[in-house]
Parts: sequence; structure tokens; C-alpha cells
Amino acid sequence: MARQIDLESDLRCRFPAAFHASTHFRFDCGKGWLAIVETLCSLLSHANECTEHAPTYLVGAVEKMGTLRILVAGRDARANEWIMFAEQRAARTCELCGANGRLLYIDGWQRVRCQPHAQTTRPFEEAD
Ligand SMILES: [Zn+2]
Repeated sequence: MARQIDLESDLRCRFPAAFHASTHFRFDCGKGWLAIVETLCSLLSHANECTEHAPTYLVGAVEKMGTLRILVAGRDARANEWIMFAEQRAARTCELCGANGRLLYIDGWQRVRCQPHAQTTRPFEEAD
């Protein structure tokens, strides 16, 4: 899916220190969560540039059971807190458009959706 790959490259370009140079990064969720993932990239990038501890690299931002799962390589207590914040924020953010949302059960799928997108189950559909 070209658009997902573009998003992955874009994040890697803008926040190179948030990613391990030779590890693939997977962005596999709707664009409504992009701002949350960007913020996490920014925090990790800054921390990895400044810290004397082992860096924490972002490996994936994926939708699982309706909610955002952040996958990392290496993890310290501070990164844990940011990841928890990002995942809990996404649980209240429409995966399609980024508006306030909640976890809904739609046709057997669990999805975080705002009211206008409450019936849209496909994660990568363009928000209108
Ligand atoms: Zn929405």
C-alpha cells in the first residue's frame, strides 16, 4: 500500500534518530493516529539524541483489536510512559480522522471511531 510506505518514509526522514537505521518500521493503522505517532517520534528522537542510556527505536505503529499498539526495540521507563500515553490517547481518537472517538464494535470489528465514522470499519479509507 503506497500511501502507508510514504508515511513510513516521511516519518523516518523527519525523525531519523527515532528509528534504527537498518530496521524496518511499519505504520499499519489509519491516518487519524498519525499526529499521535508523530509526537511519539519527536519525543523518542530527542531522547535518543540526548540520552546516555541505550536508545529506544520505533519499530511499528499498528492497529490491533481496534487500538493502537506501539512496537519498539529497547525500552526505558520514560519511553514506556510515552508509549502508554500514545496508546491510551489513540483509544479516544478516531483512527480515520483524528477527531474525538471511542472504541466501538462494528460488524464484529473493534474500531475507534468518531460519530460520523461510526459505521466505517475499513482502517485505511480516506476520511471525508
Ligand atoms: Zn472520524
